[in-house]
Amino acid sequence: MSDCIFCQIAAGEIPARMIYQDESVVAFHDLHPAAPTHILIVPRHHAGDVLELAADPRGPEVMEAVLKAVPQVAAAAGVDRTGFRLINNCGEDGGQTIRHIHFHLIGGKRFGERLL
Ligand code: AMP
Ligand code: ZN
Repeated sequence: MSDCIFCQIAAGEIPARMIYQDESVVAFHDLHPAAPTHILIVPRHHAGDVLELAADPRGPEVMEAVLKAVPQVAAAAGVDRTGFRLINNCGEDGGQTIRHIHFHLIGGKRFGERLL
């Protein structure tokens, strides 16, 4: 989608601090990090959110690609041994601001037991 910022980053049309790329997924540093390590894992395939992806015939293959990218991104970010959170925000109450599915990989600090 030409007017989608994450499609444009995946296509190399908008710069980002890229940390990992393969044929299905890109991963780059969040512009406004919420923790010392804050990476966005973004499938190249456009789906607005996780519900849209679940209804998409390509959903399972996209999620498989994300799953395979997670250990590589975590290692590249240096948090594979220390741990991290993997978060997907969906819709208004989920706090989603960019309508292209993505996963926040957040680490580099010790989080508490509470989610929020
Ligand atoms: P969400 O609220 O789950 O939709 O997350 C969107 C995230 O994208 C936020 O954490 C933003 O800081 C981040 N973001 C927005 N624009 C950019 C950009 N151009 N490069 C990197 N991160 C971005
Ligand atoms: Zn997109």
